[in-house]
Amino acid sequence: MKISKNSVVTIDYQLMDAEGNVHEASTAQEPWVYLHGHGQVIPGVEAALEGKEAGTEVEIELEADKAYGHHDEELTTEVPRSAFEQIKNLEVGMRLAAEAPDGSHMVTVTEITDDAVTVDANHPLAGQKVRIRTKVREVREATEEEIEHGHAHGPGGHQH
Ligand code: ZN
Repeated sequence: MKISKNSVVTIDYQLMDAEGNVHEASTAQEPWVYLHGHGQVIPGVEAALEGKEAGTEVEIELEADKAYGHHDEELTTEVPRSAFEQIKNLEVGMRLAAEAPDGSHMVTVTEITDDAVTVDANHPLAGQKVRIRTKVREVREATEEEIEHGHAHGPGGHQH
């Protein structure tokens, strides 16, 4: 069965930066399961998997604008060092959950000085070319309920 809109697709994937460092990967026990054609995966990947079948391996390279977008300077904030008193071993590259009026989101520490810490709320791969390697494990038709919900159910999908 070929992947098309409303297919439930099970894939193994590895997300790498342009140098080939792996940033995210599924595991053998926990592949990624998604509903195709509903914007659940980044557009470039969805397009590359269209029409593929179980067993197919696809490796794609995406420019920043097709992956995690451009690096937005406005998402970089300088915070007084005192706000981080509770955090031991604070270092550049550390990922932290930051509380904001619109909820909690992940930021990356990008600079530390004696009195200030710069945090960046961009995705760590924003502004970078990325490589994604996927292997299609399984393709099935979505149920009406899955299409209605806009996501896959069952193992690896939404549990409810
Ligand atoms: Zn659901």
